[in-house]
Amino acid sequence: MTLHELTIEQAARGLRKKEFSAKELTQAVLDRIDAVDARVQAYLTVDREGAMAQAEAADQRLEKGNAMPLTGIPMGIKDLICTKGLRTTCASKTLENFVPPYDATVIRRLKDAGAVIVGKHNMDEFAMGATTEHSAFKITRNPWNLDRIPGGSSGGSAAAVAADMCLGALGSDTGGSIRQPASHCGVVGVKPTYGRVSRFGAAAFASSLDQIGPLGKTVMDCAILLNAISGPDPKDSTASPSPVPDFTQITGEGLSGITIGVDRAFMTAGGLDPQVRTAISNAIGTIESLGARCVDISLPHTQYAVAAYCVIASSEASSNLARYDGVRYGFRDKEQTDLLEMYTQSRSKGLGPEVRRRIILGTYALSAGYYDAYYGKASQVRTLIQNDFEKAFEVCDAIVSPVAPTPAYPIGDTIENPLSMYLLDLFTLSANLSGIPGISVPCGFSDDHMPVGLQIMCRHFDESTLFRIARQFEQQAGITGKPAI
Ligand code: GLN
Repeated sequence: MTLHELTIEQAARGLRKKEFSAKELTQAVLDRIDAVDARVQAYLTVDREGAMAQAEAADQRLEKGNAMPLTGIPMGIKDLICTKGLRTTCASKTLENFVPPYDATVIRRLKDAGAVIVGKHNMDEFAMGATTEHSAFKITRNPWNLDRIPGGSSGGSAAAVAADMCLGALGSDTGGSIRQPASHCGVVGVKPTYGRVSRFGAAAFASSLDQIGPLGKTVMDCAILLNAISGPDPKDSTASPSPVPDFTQITGEGLSGITIGVDRAFMTAGGLDPQVRTAISNAIGTIESLGARCVDISLPHTQYAVAAYCVIASSEASSNLARYDGVRYGFRDKEQTDLLEMYTQSRSKGLGPEVRRRIILGTYALSAGYYDAYYGKASQVRTLIQNDFEKAFEVCDAIVSPVAPTPAYPIGDTIENPLSMYLLDLFTLSANLSGIPGISVPCGFSDDHMPVGLQIMCRHFDESTLFRIARQFEQQAGITGKPAI
């Protein structure tokens, strides 16, 4: 196995045993980027010099014997998380030249752990999208089939992990943007509990839904990453003071004593690809074979999740993105002489069509006279969805479902029809609306060899159970293989 193919767990062991240095590992990853990223297009910025300097520092730390699990591990970061001195664009023209003067808390924590940040990943502009086609700069391709979408909005991160262009990544998930691309690219992705991870320094899309989380090659790698980034933060009042257990302590042989909830309505949902259905059914069988008990549950309000999400996410986005007005932040159209025209043109030219669509939708939904009918109503539906989960978790420890209704489809298929793209988030949105954690773990392939992911969701702050089930499943199912890129 070549160095760039290692998991974080394997690389950390090799580094500690001095089988190779952090500089060699980082160079291997940079070489891999040079070899394949012209085809995949996962990176917006590669920081070769910075990465080698961080690797050098990591080697010194390894030499002194005070390494942590991430010391010397090459990582990539979704381009909406601020990295001091390293361009952070949110894949938007309005922030094309933005170089943050500070690190996001999660970046600070990665750097304190000695991780090496090799670069920034492409994404849908401001995380709005499910395909990574909505970037102002480039379209990322799925390493398993370069004509297919990698999923989104953290599509650059998922593609980079799948194609061994970093050992792990951080993405963000507002409605599925970590889990869905992880599913499409055959990697593991975790949306932690709302509040588990600080969002200080991450560009806000929909503040009541956004969470930062890890993408990795294995469940254990995601546990290692979540350990490093979790915990309270005085700079983010929504970061929870709940104690952070060691997520890598995955206890228990098998899954006896665990009860898994399955909503059969999900499995018969129209639009669920039969190959995905088969992969999920087989996965449920595997989980049962590990000793878990499966029970039927009902999440009746999930059918309204897409509608509620569209209103809530767009409303919050319209407010959060008001700051990119060419004066306080972002691109300014300097040709305008009239003040109002300057605002209008700066926003029209700086923001792409999907972002503008959501701002317009959200501004309408929040307008005087409409608030109760839309945002108010959507918030009530959100409570009903939360109640469904609370009831379900009275009888089960975890809920399993598909991540996405279909495997990754050809680039361009939903670009003309945003509604068809929104509908694909059906299975992932509810975890954001209710704040619970969710994971996507590879569970099979379609007939044309595209990866399919299984979603597991648990109670608030119970990521430990999530990792336990996912890890046992991963080992038992033995889904292996890499994209032939
Ligand atoms: N695909 C969803 C959307 O377009 C979710 C995006 C996200 O999680 N950031 O809004």
